[in-house]
Amino acid sequence: MKKTLLVLLALVLAFGAIGLAGCGSEEPAEEPEATETEEEVVELPAGVQAIADTGKLRVGVKADVPNFGLQDAATGEFEGMEIDLAYALAERMGLSAEDVTFEAVTAKTRGPLLDNGQLDVVIATFTIKPERLEQWNFSDPYYQDEVGLLVKKDSGIESLADLDGKVVGVAQGATSKDAVLAEATAAGITVEFLEFATYPEINAALESGRVDAFSVDKSILSGYVTEDSVILPDGFSPQDYGIASKLGTDELRDFINEMLAEMEENGEMDALLEKWGLS
Ligand code: GLU
Repeated sequence: MKKTLLVLLALVLAFGAIGLAGCGSEEPAEEPEATETEEEVVELPAGVQAIADTGKLRVGVKADVPNFGLQDAATGEFEGMEIDLAYALAERMGLSAEDVTFEAVTAKTRGPLLDNGQLDVVIATFTIKPERLEQWNFSDPYYQDEVGLLVKKDSGIESLADLDGKVVGVAQGATSKDAVLAEATAAGITVEFLEFATYPEINAALESGRVDAFSVDKSILSGYVTEDSVILPDGFSPQDYGIASKLGTDELRDFINEMLAEMEENGEMDALLEKWGLS
């Protein structure tokens, strides 16, 4: 409605200007100002406006995934590609970077935090899976990763095939266990699993020898490589990351998809991937 009025106003002013020019006025016809005003007015879908009206955007992000979502222990600041995506979304909603509230999430906590309304969106290496689409809304993919394995250099493990009879540490709520299981079954080997709530716990278990390998997406593993450990060349089970929101928030999902499509088209996404060394 607001937009219609502005368009009408723009037309009236435009015709007024042409009319004046037609009357032999010496003044050059002025640019109709209302057109400019119309461009500045961004009408948000109701479901997005409702969030913008709160004056903040609450985003669940990773705190321990370099280049995606990483929290500086000293300053508490978050940085990474997913952090920049949150800023881009806020800007599109008419909010500023200061209006974005980040909350560190894990594979286990991110879904429940959306469900109980503590977060508006989750941008946290969250893989789009058919069963998850029944629980949450997901945007189109913005990145693809694969599952990998981190092992101790002195373990003698060089590939997935060497994991026969070994213990693999995985995170609760992550796609990793199913991915390794499928790959191990296909390779005709048997592995055991130990599940942990957080990645630092799995890494500690790897260091202490409680598990023989730490498995999750390679992007996440990259944050845990030490002088003594190495990510195996094997990669499997491609993971498409999407921005998640509560089920039913379709206007928000569509709004996010428009943003992602635009970023793909105008080169912003490539620039973002390059900025974080992900291209
Ligand atoms: N991306 C995988 C998932 O969504 C790994 C877990 C994680 O993102 O922390 O399950």
